[in-house]
Amino acid sequence: MTSRKFLATAFCCLFFFCATLCVTSAFAQPPAANEMPSVIQVPTEAQPSPHFDATAATNAYLAQIPAEKTARSDAYFEGGYWLILWDFLYGVVIALLLLNLRWSARMRDLSERVTRFKPVHTFVYWLQYLVLTTVLVFPLSVYEDYFREHKYGLATQTFGPWMGDQLKMLAVNLVLGGVLAIVLFGVVRRWPHTWWIRASVVSIVFVVVVILITPVYIVPIFNTPKILNDPKIVDPILSMARANGIPANNVYEIDASKQTTKMSANVSGFGNTMRITLNDNLLRRGSPEEIQAVMGHEMGHYVLNHIYKDIIFLSIVIVLAFAYLYLGLGWALQHWGERWRIRGVGDTAVLPLVMLLFAIFGFVITPVMNTWTRTQEYEADMYGLNTSRQPDGFAQAAIHLGEYRKMNPGPIEEWIFFDHPSGRNRIYAAMRWKAENLKLFMEQQQSSGGATAAAPAASGAVDKK
Ligand SMILES: [Zn+2]
Repeated sequence: MTSRKFLATAFCCLFFFCATLCVTSAFAQPPAANEMPSVIQVPTEAQPSPHFDATAATNAYLAQIPAEKTARSDAYFEGGYWLILWDFLYGVVIALLLLNLRWSARMRDLSERVTRFKPVHTFVYWLQYLVLTTVLVFPLSVYEDYFREHKYGLATQTFGPWMGDQLKMLAVNLVLGGVLAIVLFGVVRRWPHTWWIRASVVSIVFVVVVILITPVYIVPIFNTPKILNDPKIVDPILSMARANGIPANNVYEIDASKQTTKMSANVSGFGNTMRITLNDNLLRRGSPEEIQAVMGHEMGHYVLNHIYKDIIFLSIVIVLAFAYLYLGLGWALQHWGERWRIRGVGDTAVLPLVMLLFAIFGFVITPVMNTWTRTQEYEADMYGLNTSRQPDGFAQAAIHLGEYRKMNPGPIEEWIFFDHPSGRNRIYAAMRWKAENLKLFMEQQQSSGGATAAAPAASGAVDKK
């Protein structure tokens, strides 16, 4: 269900924005070829001692990852850099084809023959556009989402169910995108000069509504979320939630293993629909310490109001995108409008041009979007460490996530491509936290009189030194 629309249409852009706050992922399910090790014993260098050194502890954790696993996950992740480029170029080519071959104008003509009623006309155009572009993009989608995911041992679906999910996604796009297209084209026709600011407002409202309904109406189309009721897992989590003022009565579990081996958890929705969800891969493979560390991170998103901050940030991005669209459309239509048989901004035939301009915008601001998200992820990491007090569980989660993320990128690479801190930086942050709160672990070690396999159980109170 990863959205990888090469055509960054307004719609796809919005969907991209709407993606739920991501979280940790690692994966799992035996027997995945690229499984990272589950570190049962904390490495010697990371054991509490008067000589504890955060860098040495970080290196000791990283040293547990076999070289061939690192090579494999690096190849997977770095391949993703190129996919960003190919997706973009492929989308540009398709948009230019639809415009220059005047297929877009023909789809407009056809929709006008069906009806003169403008909203229906817009929907009929959208239907043709969506189906045609989905078919044209299909070779790339099937490679990226199916064959490549299988090649790296990350996918669990056979082709039939995968295709079923694609069709469901198409239906969701048809309905939500259709509604958005009808409203946006209505706005453009009604206010030919100030449409871009009004369209921004409509799009922001759309994003908010989609975020609100996603956990309750969209997610269940693909998976079956249910309330998690294993007291061994839920009790420490709810205890941690209460200690942090989170009014959570339930934690949700989702059957992500239907599609993927990746471990993950997330916070989605807002207001009444806000919920924390753990996927079944995480529950099966994660140690209790690791699950608590991940939950602390998720609670960080919640307590730090990341969803609301995201909405504000996205609102700014959307306004900028529409201002740029307003200028870009005016310029392009003046030059090529006649050749493409597009009558104006309110003509549905303009849609491929809109998608083309949004694709360029989305491509250029990729590092900005990644940096926004990565900054929030870092904040959630810090919150999670303070809350769960599980630096070793956190390090283990970072290693599991390394199954599909490069562990040790260069700083510029991380800035451009990473929407989470890199594995190395996450482990280092955990070990630095451990070094600065070493007293907690030394006492634990003395009272248990032995080696530490795990940090103290989570409780709410954070020892602030
Ligand atoms: Zn997160």
